[in-house]
Amino acid sequence: MRYLVTGSAGFIGTNLGLRLLREGHTVIGLDNYHSGTAANTAKLAAFAGFSFVEHDVTKPYDIPCDVLCNLACPASPPHYQKDPIYTLRISVLGTLHALENAERHQARLLHASTSEIYGDPLVHPQDESYLGNVNSIGPRACYDEGKRAAETLCADFVRLGRADARLVRIFNTYGPHMRGDDGRVVTNFLLQALAGKALTVYGDGQQTRSFCYIDDLVEGMLRVLALAQNPGPINLGNPNEFTMLELATAVNRVVGASSPLRFEPLPTDDPKQRKPDIAKARRLLADWQPQVQLTEGLAKTLAYLKAEPIAHQA
Ligand code: UDP
Repeated sequence: MRYLVTGSAGFIGTNLGLRLLREGHTVIGLDNYHSGTAANTAKLAAFAGFSFVEHDVTKPYDIPCDVLCNLACPASPPHYQKDPIYTLRISVLGTLHALENAERHQARLLHASTSEIYGDPLVHPQDESYLGNVNSIGPRACYDEGKRAAETLCADFVRLGRADARLVRIFNTYGPHMRGDDGRVVTNFLLQALAGKALTVYGDGQQTRSFCYIDDLVEGMLRVLALAQNPGPINLGNPNEFTMLELATAVNRVVGASSPLRFEPLPTDDPKQRKPDIAKARRLLADWQPQVQLTEGLAKTLAYLKAEPIAHQA
């Protein structure tokens, strides 16, 4: 199969691309390095089945493919807030162009949506029927509302019979090929602990997240693509929920460090709790559920950060 992966130089794009290439598929990576890295492209380029197109998804493209994975978008709050209008353009125009390309080439499309479409949720855990609690004018809105509009585009293309667009709502995911300066909590804590620095806890550290190791996510994405019927939106994430204080303790243990905590202000609109209800994924995806638990995933990510200090700094 010929897969077109937008955002191929990013964290999920690289891990998905590597899995597909190892399985013998052809992968066309598309990225403009807005938040992805050349080091990630180099990893994919080691495979003969890989080719790369440097392109900005806010502009249309015409690339034949059997499957299109629409992953292009900065996903870390500091990265997506740096140029919020561009972030919104990437989500909306990038998804429109992906859908048009998929329609033109009759390709199945997998869109990387996000738990952020649930905002600061008033329902816990979140299942796919929850409509969300999003501040449309806050600093996270460029991402949250962009991703919500992208879901709308996918749903309308499906309703109109123009594309088989599948939505996965990705909850916090971590692992190798994340940038060291990604700014999200797992890489921040790991690198801080490695350097013997204090761990920066935002707020009181009682807010929760549920962290999924990247290999589990990629497996779930491929199972969604493999379904004969479009299943509608599906949450993919690890339902084990931790406070940021618990995460800090786990990171110190895995690194073998005893870094103190440094409390910093909680960012605006930072969700207080987040945990996926994965009943739908389990039901439809042959009992898919995360296999890698936090300590093991942190150890694998730590090994990557140690082994490739240059790559993750790129
Ligand atoms: N966070 C933290 N320290 C950091 C980075 C993030 O305490 O150095 C917190 C952040 O405020 C949030 C949680 O960790 O409550 C997860 O943040 P992240 O940016 O990783 O993902 P998201 O907010 O998109 O879920």
